Amino acid sequence: MPQIDQSKVSRWDQHGREHVVRVRRTGVQRTISCDTCGWRQGAQFLPWLKAAEHLAEVHQATVDPSEGTPQR
Ligand SMILES: [Zn+2]
Repeated sequence: MPQIDQSKVSRWDQHGREHVVRVRRTGVQRTISCDTCGWRQGAQFLPWLKAAEHLAEVHQATVDPSEGTPQR
């Protein structure tokens, strides 16, 4: 079973600013919190997906730094 130990999701917005949402484990629940705006939410499943959604909707940050150069 692959161990997921990713504890944050980072995305860049169109201005090249990095936004980070941290994922913290608290028992069975996970809490995700955004460094940029202080948003917090509990997420039992797919916290990274919720984090990415938040970054896209609130900060228009959709560029995954690990995927290289954004398309234009
Ligand atoms: Zn935020």
